[in-house]
Amino acid sequence: MSEDQGKDIRFATRLLHTGHEIDPVHGAAAIPIYQTSTYHQDDVENPPLYDYARSGNPSRDALQGQVAALEGGTHALAFSSGMAAITASLMLFSAGDHLIACDDIYGGTYRALTQVFNRMGIETTFVDATDPDRIRAAIRPNTKGLILETPSNPTIRIIDLKAAAQIAREHGLISIVDNTFMTPYLQRPLELGIDVVVHSATKFLGGHSDVVAGLTVTKDEGLGKRLKFLQNATGGILGPQDCFLLQRGLKTLKVRLDASSAGAEKIAKWLRGREDIAHVYYPGLTDHPGHAVHKAQADGYGAVLSFDVGSGERAKRLASRVTLPIYAVSLGAVETILSYPRTMSHAAMPEPERHRRGITDGLLRLSVGLEDPDDLIADLEQGLR
Ligand SMILES: *Cc1c(COP(=O)(O)O)cnc(C)c1O
Repeated sequence: MSEDQGKDIRFATRLLHTGHEIDPVHGAAAIPIYQTSTYHQDDVENPPLYDYARSGNPSRDALQGQVAALEGGTHALAFSSGMAAITASLMLFSAGDHLIACDDIYGGTYRALTQVFNRMGIETTFVDATDPDRIRAAIRPNTKGLILETPSNPTIRIIDLKAAAQIAREHGLISIVDNTFMTPYLQRPLELGIDVVVHSATKFLGGHSDVVAGLTVTKDEGLGKRLKFLQNATGGILGPQDCFLLQRGLKTLKVRLDASSAGAEKIAKWLRGREDIAHVYYPGLTDHPGHAVHKAQADGYGAVLSFDVGSGERAKRLASRVTLPIYAVSLGAVETILSYPRTMSHAAMPEPERHRRGITDGLLRLSVGLEDPDDLIADLEQGLR
């Protein structure tokens, strides 16, 4: 199938037919793992398409082409981790630039901005970006970038991406959205006017807890070229074996997310109905703050929810009693993952700051996998009893 044909087909079909699924050399139905660092140059006068594998590799190109098509972009790059992709995107900025980021951004991004990029003269202001006016109010003459994530983690706050993209355009800022939680199946920020999408492909895109990877996607030619230059200059590429695993995982993205999201919705509603749960955070609950905004900009609610069991003691007891979910960091896999933000993702955050963000001692995060949701509910029920 040609790339032009690919634009008219639906997402489920596109996952399998973007024009990057068949090996162009031998027609293999899975793109081979080009496990090579360099390429023999037949023609001494003219350099070949591939000369060195940091700069290009057919396994990586196939994955990148597929991801660009899925996000509605034109230029995708595969990195060795989500943080490598985010770091390369932040390198678009220079000393003296000011950035605005949402205040509940992924912990690793927060750390990179406040402990690495700050040393290089790039200053970041963190704002409650659920209110577009607060983004606007934080803009300075030297503001160059806007870094957002929606839904956020773990309290599932929602940012209006169209409004944010509009503000960025008015002020000449590069807007960057971490789309890890939604994936292009459920949310396509480029279509809403965002400049760069970043992913931890370690999560839903890979989907099987067996690969660490990151992606950037843009549809702007200039930004695409700058990011490619930065990737080649700094070197955080994804290896061919991991490119293969990611393309393999992507084929089932829709069916996995459909099943996981349905499970998450069922569990969120079940938790909501219980007297002994202080709060449930899930964008699919109609009274969840930002529900209407999320519904307007996304095609579903995803597989991640958080809930507050009331106390740290109770959270620990539940975590030690459940038998089906693995108790771990990470999310977005075929198996259900239960995490405890207090000691995992947000352990480094001072307690008052953590509590201010609603990350209480009783808060647990659940990334729902492909188990039967009724078995997960029964397991949570016995754990809560
Ligand atoms: C995991 C994660 C990252 C970091 O990705 P790695 O692949 O672990 O480097 C970034 N953003 C979000 C939202 C994540 O969940």
